[in-house]
Amino acid sequence: MNLNRLLLLAAAATIVSCSTSPKVAPAIPQDNEIEAKVEKILKKMTLEEKVGQMTQITATAIANGLDITPAGDSIIRTYKIGSVLNTPGDIAQSPEGYDRFIKELNRISMEEMGIPCLYGLDHIHGTTYVLGGTLFPQEINLASSFNRKHAYNMGKVTAYESRAANVPWTFSPTMDLGRNPEWPRMWESFGEDTYVNAQMAVAEVQGMQGEDPNHLGPYNIAACAKHFMGYGVPVTGQDRTPSSIASSELREKHFEPFKEAMQAGALSIMVNSASNNGMPFHCNTELLTKWVKEDLNWDGMIVTDWADINNLYTRERVASSKKEAVKLAINAGIDMAMVPYECQFAIDLKELVEEGEVPESRVDDAVRRILRLKFRLGLFDQPDTVLEDYPEFGGKAHAQLAYEAALESEVLLKNNGILPLRKDLRILVTGPNAHSIRTLNGGWSYTWQGHGASIPEFTDKYNTIYEALSSKFENITYVPGVEYDLMSPNWKFDEATSVKEAVAAARKSDVIIACIGENTYCETPGNDDDLNLSSNQKDLVKALAATGRPLVLILNEGRPRIIRDIEPLATAIVDIMLPGNYGADALAALISGEENFSAKLPFTYPKYTNKFAVYDYKPAENQGTMSGVYNYNAVMDVQWPFGHGLSYTTFAYSNMTVSKTEFGAEDTITVTVDVTNTGEVAGKESVLLFSSDIYASSTPDVRRLRAFDKIELAPAETKTVTFEVSAKDLAFVNYYGKWTLEAGDFALSVGDQNTMVKCVETVVWDKPNID
Ligand code: BGC
Repeated sequence: MNLNRLLLLAAAATIVSCSTSPKVAPAIPQDNEIEAKVEKILKKMTLEEKVGQMTQITATAIANGLDITPAGDSIIRTYKIGSVLNTPGDIAQSPEGYDRFIKELNRISMEEMGIPCLYGLDHIHGTTYVLGGTLFPQEINLASSFNRKHAYNMGKVTAYESRAANVPWTFSPTMDLGRNPEWPRMWESFGEDTYVNAQMAVAEVQGMQGEDPNHLGPYNIAACAKHFMGYGVPVTGQDRTPSSIASSELREKHFEPFKEAMQAGALSIMVNSASNNGMPFHCNTELLTKWVKEDLNWDGMIVTDWADINNLYTRERVASSKKEAVKLAINAGIDMAMVPYECQFAIDLKELVEEGEVPESRVDDAVRRILRLKFRLGLFDQPDTVLEDYPEFGGKAHAQLAYEAALESEVLLKNNGILPLRKDLRILVTGPNAHSIRTLNGGWSYTWQGHGASIPEFTDKYNTIYEALSSKFENITYVPGVEYDLMSPNWKFDEATSVKEAVAAARKSDVIIACIGENTYCETPGNDDDLNLSSNQKDLVKALAATGRPLVLILNEGRPRIIRDIEPLATAIVDIMLPGNYGADALAALISGEENFSAKLPFTYPKYTNKFAVYDYKPAENQGTMSGVYNYNAVMDVQWPFGHGLSYTTFAYSNMTVSKTEFGAEDTITVTVDVTNTGEVAGKESVLLFSSDIYASSTPDVRRLRAFDKIELAPAETKTVTFEVSAKDLAFVNYYGKWTLEAGDFALSVGDQNTMVKCVETVVWDKPNID
């Protein structure tokens, strides 16, 4: 598409102008009573008290275990601290322990400032930091279920159980697009797609916060959508390193999930630690203030990530002192600083206001947002909750929901007929992931890295894969072959301890189940230099395969490890990712055929280290070989595509219809398709609708997911699935940063059904957000 064509298109387009004024409707409609109370308090606050509200400190800086130390007490009082985060002692605590700890924090805060403390925990996949709480599968698994219900349930259970421990706020959902499998936090998100992240995050937020973001009930907590934004695509693949996202892609793909979550009422967001195209997110005024606070008219609270104001000085080097970093970040729109150990931030900010470097009105805006959040949470009326009011904490009903989520989250990638396994078979269970709960959960499980001497004691009552299979099959032998040091933080280490014994046992078995993948890690310690599965594990698989026995691979991993050379050796492969405490029970039910697989990959499974692909790549990335002397080919070769996942039954798609074949910018197209279960057993199917813009003035994505639904079908049953696709769903952000819908052909596809529809007008919106 050349410049002339672009200019012509622009000339022909209807320009829908709106700019930023008049203001758009508030993302969260305000409650006047709360606003009046906020103003009343704000008016009486000293500058010192205001900057204190904006300061968030970690629990270990003020406490020894669960006891607030005299020095800690003095820090809270001296700096008038507004918020505390993290689990005391860096390990999960009992609900009673939290209750005591947070009550004491609130007592000190009320006595000193008359304002309750805002306490936040990383409840990333369920109630991960409260002992006895319910751990769900990680978000990457919830995404693979393509079932919003599970994200909602996780949010709801997490909220209930957090409040049982007197915790009103969590740093979740994570909605960084996991588009680079090298990045060690890929599993914390809902995978590579914008729409899946948006839909799942909204469901999770609704589960956590309930119906009314202005008045959260006693079973709700405030969500914190993170990490705003583009964190999942570092150029080097290493955590907290720069990205290079074009502004059009930033708006079209990375901002959308946040926008949706904020419009659904998410009460806070946390900022991405890294930088994009040279600008750290923590001092990006355009994104923090214009996009979020002005264009969206969102009145929630923006918190930094760990020490990230200091990092503007020490790591990003856009400030030449800590104090300058504070000035940049607060002027850009940050409301609360996760300092997290020392309070120089409060001193610097106070001085900056006194020196006229930061307007006091900016500080007032931040404090308003913090107080508003505390009112919305009801903390002024009732700073503390009581465990006795939460009889379902860690109970069977919650466990069942986590189990159901795990069941729908484990992806059957390959099956040459061996699964479901016959009950009479002699089974060898082997591999470093076969007998570990730690590896089922991943990071953010009882501890940050998911490891620690106490984990076995906390997880004793849950089943490892070996244990869960033993409850379904009678003839099981376990030999690890390769082992991790499960007590060690060195997650990369594995050792071939008993390969010969495993091979000998394989010879006496009818089938081998090899459980391979990764040990647990989180954030920067999870950086790695090779995406290939470890050579010890690959060698084990090769040695086992040489016995000629059928081999089932179970992949238990946070990011897709490359298995190109061992994949052909396997008769069946299941990617269970990080399914949580009930993940092995779910796997046993699926493998035995008591339950049916229904998950699909929410990311593209790579085959090579150098050819990363996401499903919405550009046409030029997959051209095949050109004819002629020069070979300008580009070939996309992945192990399994986004959306791949098998079942014990088969589904046929038919009768796709569209309500209109021509549409304009304000239209909505109703799409229907019949799905029939053509196999012998009942099954659930995730029905995915994709669109392709055939030609566009910015090179279009080959496909985009626009809608999904999950249905259940008995054998021979047919259901009609209906989707509403609005014309605006088909728009893209053009090279100049404007939402654009262009006249021309679009293909809509569901399963193997395709229909062409035609857009009859070209519209370029001048306002930043178009719905
Ligand atoms: C992580 C965040 C987390 C925060 C608080 C940071 O290191 O990046 O995701 O919420 O710590 O624990």
